[in-house]
Amino acid sequence: MPETLKASDLKRGREIELTLTDFADRGKSLARVGDGDRGYVVFVAGAVPGDRVRARVFKRKKSFAEARLLEVLQPSDLRVEPRCEYFQSCGGCKWQHVGYEAQLEMKRDHVEGALVHEGGIDLGAHGPDGAGVTVLPTMGAEGEPYFYRNKMEFSFSAQRWLTDWEIASGEALDKDFALGLHVPGRYDKVLDLRACYLQSTWSAALVNGVRLFAKDNGWKPWNVHEHTGFLRHLVVRTPAHTEERMVNLVTSREDPERMEQFAEWLQEHFPETTTLVNTINSGKASTAFGEKEVVVFGPGVVHDRIGAHTFEIAPSAFFQTNTVQAERLYAVAAEMAHFQPDDLVYDLYCGAGTISMYVADRVKRVVGVELVEAAVENARANAEAAGVENCTFVSGDMLKLFTPEFVAEHGQPDVLLVDPPRAGMHPKVTEQIAALRPERIVYVSCNPRTQAKDLQRLLASTDGGYRIEAIQPVDLFPHTHHVENVIGLRRID
Ligand code: SAH
Repeated sequence: MPETLKASDLKRGREIELTLTDFADRGKSLARVGDGDRGYVVFVAGAVPGDRVRARVFKRKKSFAEARLLEVLQPSDLRVEPRCEYFQSCGGCKWQHVGYEAQLEMKRDHVEGALVHEGGIDLGAHGPDGAGVTVLPTMGAEGEPYFYRNKMEFSFSAQRWLTDWEIASGEALDKDFALGLHVPGRYDKVLDLRACYLQSTWSAALVNGVRLFAKDNGWKPWNVHEHTGFLRHLVVRTPAHTEERMVNLVTSREDPERMEQFAEWLQEHFPETTTLVNTINSGKASTAFGEKEVVVFGPGVVHDRIGAHTFEIAPSAFFQTNTVQAERLYAVAAEMAHFQPDDLVYDLYCGAGTISMYVADRVKRVVGVELVEAAVENARANAEAAGVENCTFVSGDMLKLFTPEFVAEHGQPDVLLVDPPRAGMHPKVTEQIAALRPERIVYVSCNPRTQAKDLQRLLASTDGGYRIEAIQPVDLFPHTHHVENVIGLRRID
């Protein structure tokens, strides 16, 4: 339906009716007002392409406006009933109202849009033989796209956020205690979650149990304004491939008596718990890390498996949160790398070395580079425990470390695997890679926009010396706008 709105209707505070046509970044949808593609763009969060909505303009800039959704007048065919009653209030899943197939398509389109529009990459000139490459359909979760996280970090707060329906219920509500997840954009307000479909029914039951236990015993939640209260976070780890379960209670001070009482309660009501850790964070920053970790019972670690190897996961260790999809992501990366038995591989931004170890038995040697020293220690310990002898892990900042001396010491790589953080690679790192000109590069990214820019830079500084062979988005975070994307490149000789 052609949009009848005019750009002049888009005044701040004005109520408008419009039909959304496309998905936009960060889980919003957009409509174009005015002439074709050159029209003025209006973003509406919470709406879906195909929705006819009533919305109120709250931001007006030179080329776009943003409007707040007031009512869906005609729902889009892409809509499904969100599973969770906290949908829209909770920062956890923003796309539950979009059918899963449509979510996967949106992610694929996002990757393609980023490469073409932001990276200026002509996909028609790439592909193994230069005859074009397409972005493959997003590899989605097999089976139910829920309960996929192996780790959840719930927060305690003395500042509870009430949902509209909680207020409407007329019940007497305890506003000074919440255990759940943050409301988007509010560092202080926490939803008191009675249900959550991200981790497991066990962890949701645990949250409800811990809340009752804490209230019964008069243990106070953290007050972010006054920096008082005892309970700060409840971190739950439930590995995908073992039955182990870690509960990590983050408190503001050490209190062995209370912890003993909690341990007894936990063992009685949640006997599946294999280890209980008490992290003490007395600082102001609301993180689940602290100055001290006390193992209350059990080994203080859990184990999970990716590929052939088992990984030991400490309370503060980094580990991919969707084990099953991470393994598929690595399989895609390994396939695109076209490994040869005598390959020297650099695994740059290697975290705890899970990719390195996943590929180690297919190649001669892997050199991993990672900024966080603790992650490098994890990587070394993981490799040693698994008897993997052909991986070396180096800690340091890629920008400083990745020099000709580094290459002289470790050897000229045949394959580069890069998996940088959301910000992408530093332009100088891209240039160093361009100067190195390895035969194959596999770029794993959690942010297609920065990935596109990095590739643009790499192609420019090698004078088009690489061809994109394959592009495969993988969904590690269903119901969120996040997507991982893997791109395989080969040097043109
Ligand atoms: N490849 C890993 C994790 C990738 S996440 C896996 O699959 O599990 C990105 C990693 O890059 C993080 O571990 C982060 O600590 C690291 N990192 C961020 N900036 C860096 C830099 N400048 N130099 C080296 N590593 C960096």
